[in-house]
Amino acid sequence: MNEHNGSPAAEVELDALVVGAGITGIYQLYRLREHGFTVKALEAGGGVGGTWYWNRYPGCRFDSESYSYGYFFSPELRDEWTWSEEFAGQPETERYLNFAVDRLGLRPYIEFDARVASAEFSEEQSRWLVTTTAGAVYRARFLITAVGLLSAPVFPAAPGLEEYRGESYHTALWPAAPVDFKGKRVAVVGTGSSGVQIIPFVARDASELTVFQRTANWCTPINNRPISSEKAERIRARFDELHELCLSTPAGFIHRPRDLAAFEVSDADRTAWFQRLYDEPGLTMVMNNFRDITTDAAANAAVTDFIRAKIRERVQDPAVAEMLIPDDHTYGMKRPPLENGYYEVFNQDNVELVSLREEPIERFTPTGLATTRREMDFDMIVLATGFEAATGSLTRMDIRGSGGRELGDHWEAGPRTHLGLQAAGFPNLFIVGGPQSTTGNIPRATEIQADLVTRLLTFMTEQGHSVVTTSREAEDTWIDIVADSVRGTVLENARSWAFGSNIDGKKRAYLLWSGGIPAYRERCEEAFADGFRGFVFG
Ligand code: NAP
Repeated sequence: MNEHNGSPAAEVELDALVVGAGITGIYQLYRLREHGFTVKALEAGGGVGGTWYWNRYPGCRFDSESYSYGYFFSPELRDEWTWSEEFAGQPETERYLNFAVDRLGLRPYIEFDARVASAEFSEEQSRWLVTTTAGAVYRARFLITAVGLLSAPVFPAAPGLEEYRGESYHTALWPAAPVDFKGKRVAVVGTGSSGVQIIPFVARDASELTVFQRTANWCTPINNRPISSEKAERIRARFDELHELCLSTPAGFIHRPRDLAAFEVSDADRTAWFQRLYDEPGLTMVMNNFRDITTDAAANAAVTDFIRAKIRERVQDPAVAEMLIPDDHTYGMKRPPLENGYYEVFNQDNVELVSLREEPIERFTPTGLATTRREMDFDMIVLATGFEAATGSLTRMDIRGSGGRELGDHWEAGPRTHLGLQAAGFPNLFIVGGPQSTTGNIPRATEIQADLVTRLLTFMTEQGHSVVTTSREAEDTWIDIVADSVRGTVLENARSWAFGSNIDGKKRAYLLWSGGIPAYRERCEEAFADGFRGFVFG
């Protein structure tokens, strides 16, 4: 292996280059270093954290239980960190990731403000040549992307945003300096998880808030609370058990579906269960519900009716309540946002809800925006308009494999991967936390992949293989398996970022894997045990 002592300005030779120093990239960097590889991570941001570095908007917080999201592998991290809340806010999570990086001694191996401009595989050298926008060049045997599933922000296509003269922010590119909503006329565009989190903060301080909603969502209360010192000790004592629990549940959370179907209980018991989940913290409504709420139409309708009634109860103006009730999807078809006082915001006199279905935004103006019906002036426009999920961060990076083929071209009709880890024609490129791989509670999903990559690289080094790639046949097999994972569930017909439906002109393809963490892990283990089936070494 190569030892590296060069400065980033010179050409740097490495065994592996990790792109991204969020929760996944940090772990991948740690594991590879632990196994003796020379490795660096490039991070586009000025600090570690990925999602938790960029999304610093007020209200941003976990919807995974904090302790189920943190790293489980390191006794030091487990013993020396205590989460203050069940669902930690962005500042605490960013602090945690900085603590982890320093405690693990990883900071010297991360280059900050280092955005990848291009990554090209050289067949002659069997090396990836990676150039940053600052002109630094890295040469690495292996390129491992850990750039996040939701990290390529999307802006509205309506023209004129660059001419708007007021303050404007995208939730995923929120500035570090405080943003003051006090006394301002603020527009928020977008009512997904990010919009639902920021809107109560804007409503509290703004003189006027106008919420532009294209599609309503089924939101349920987060019911966040502090973690007492007694509970923190109990959690610490059960770390291994909690880790195993997360890895055994479909989405990597501490919650399991009930072992009961919705109509195996009486109407009264079913409603009582829904009410109990509505009052409990976190994503229990979707994770801890009857086992068939996303697979049986009647069960799905029952939970949807329950939440519809809650919206009507909480929003005083019946017309506004109807606008806030989704009419194009049922509960569980999309990842449901968790909220804290979201619906009550629409009872405030300073808040107006505008339906973009009735009056789409035509253009932004120097002083605000114009819908098809009217022009409105704002001091600030907040865009909570989401991401080009899964593929966006990768295809925006100019990754070129064999013969100079661009990853975006390879994925033109939708992502093609083997186990979500490799793409045919991109030797020695590994994708961790990208399309067609298991998701849910992100660190639990991606630690599995990072461990698999570490095993593969170790195996190759031991066996003297310099190159690994996959085949189109292996990709075709995985594409079918991924499509099967969503078939027969309510997710199948969703119009959501999980299918790329939020991006104009993007071909509809399922971007995730819905078979759950245990099944994903099993399939990968099977392939590895069967002589690394689907991988081609050279
Ligand atoms: P999102 O769910 O895609 O929501 C974006 C919102 O903006 C939607 O309401 C969308 O409407 C709207 N929108 C997009 N383009 C628009 C346009 N041109 N004009 C008007 N409206 C437009 O994005 P997100 O809220 O950032 O959340 C994405 C995912 O990130 C979540 O599903 C979740 O997985 C994750 N997340 C998690 C947390 C957490 O852990 N607590 C917090 C935030 C985000 P349509 O629905 O009609 O497209």
